[in-house]
Amino acid sequence: MKDEKKSVTFFSRRVLLKTLGLSVAGAITGCTPNKPLLMSVSRHLRLARVRVSPDRVIRTVVGLRPYRASGFVVRADRFDEKTVVHNYGHGGGGITLSWGSAHLAAELAGRTGHRQAAVLGCGALGLATARLLQRQGWMATIYARDLPPQTTSNIAGAQWSPTSVFDPGKTSAEFDEQFLQAMRLSYRYFQDMVGDRYGVRWVSNYILHDKSAPPGGLVGQHPEMYPETLLLGPGEHPFPTPYALHYYTMFIEPAVYLNAVLRDFLEAGGKIMVRELKSREDVLALTEPLVVNCTGLGAYNLFGDKELTPIKGQLTVLLPQHDVDYLLIHQGFYMFPRRDGILLGGTFDQGNWNLEPDLEAEHRILDAHADVFRRMTLPTL
Ligand SMILES: Cc1cc2nc3c(=O)[nH]c(=O)nc-3n(C[C@H](O)[C@H](O)[C@H](O)COP(=O)(O)OP(=O)(O)OC[C@H]3O[C@@H](n4cnc5c(N)ncnc54)[C@H](O)[C@@H]3O)c2cc1C
Repeated sequence: MKDEKKSVTFFSRRVLLKTLGLSVAGAITGCTPNKPLLMSVSRHLRLARVRVSPDRVIRTVVGLRPYRASGFVVRADRFDEKTVVHNYGHGGGGITLSWGSAHLAAELAGRTGHRQAAVLGCGALGLATARLLQRQGWMATIYARDLPPQTTSNIAGAQWSPTSVFDPGKTSAEFDEQFLQAMRLSYRYFQDMVGDRYGVRWVSNYILHDKSAPPGGLVGQHPEMYPETLLLGPGEHPFPTPYALHYYTMFIEPAVYLNAVLRDFLEAGGKIMVRELKSREDVLALTEPLVVNCTGLGAYNLFGDKELTPIKGQLTVLLPQHDVDYLLIHQGFYMFPRRDGILLGGTFDQGNWNLEPDLEAEHRILDAHADVFRRMTLPTL
């Protein structure tokens, strides 16, 4: 896919108004020739506050992100007559990268000339891979120990952004290329799934900042995949820091999304075998000539990949709030508004395999969010 880098749309609203020779009041009332653009800026001031309190907590959940410092694995291995295509280890960005990574894995599968596949795993990676193989005419069977809603993929937030996927100092040039391809492909695949059926929607995301600085990380590097990037200055947003970086992102509701893809798979004639594969020998004994390994953290034992390590993440979920429809990231914490509840998160505990919730982490998450929303300005427009 061609690199279509374009320049960042990065400006503060004050700069914008000055450039246009307009007053803030004029922009807010919309009495200007540039009404649509300016109204879209003033809408940032009309955000509802999340009601954070312990009596609104409906559950606390834990998931283990399948992380590899050198990045995810998409690679084909030959074992006698069988080919195993690996597709695992996507860290904190597995939902985001699922379709792009599955696309790369399906390309490797296509080179074998077979048309019958065993897909190991029924999380985001297994489901996307199985569906793409079906679309290319394969007969696919999913073998999995857990089905949705029991997978890590069900725990994910999930915003479309491939973050916490690798350590930038530890990747190869080949991986960097795969990552970019998977990111771009996924960005495009998910756009075709926007709507109620798959539970995917575009939503505003705000990252709070104390200082004015151009966007860093993936937002700065790939503005073409973070539309309407805009630095809001003091008085231009309701949050208690001087600056808030805004961009649009796709937001995926895992409970809706995974069920919908699973339904598509079954309707297209796919079969599911609920079973745990205990060893590589178990895998090689499967009847299908092509196996795609989408076992996430399971590949640690199944294929002996000791670079894989969990990054434990804990989420405290509040009662749903239908007036809140934006994402917020502040000091490593995040708030994602899902239909099944308001997710409050922000723990990244590397090397921790413990799936039990940690009470101290829950308090930390609740306190940090209570503080930011208590100090947020209520809408006045
Ligand atoms: C708190 C939290 C927040 C996150 N937020 C985001 C986000 O906002 N955006 C985003 O893109 N990502 C996010 N992620 C990351 C995302 O959840 C993972 O990257 C993704 O779920 C990995 O998907 P997977 O299909 O590889 O693994 P899984 O969902 O874990 O699926 C693995 C499958 O393999 C099966 N399996 C494993 N071992 C075996 C075996 N031996 N035999 C048979 N079956 C086996 C399992 O039963 C399961 O079906 C988040 C993760 C956490 C924990």
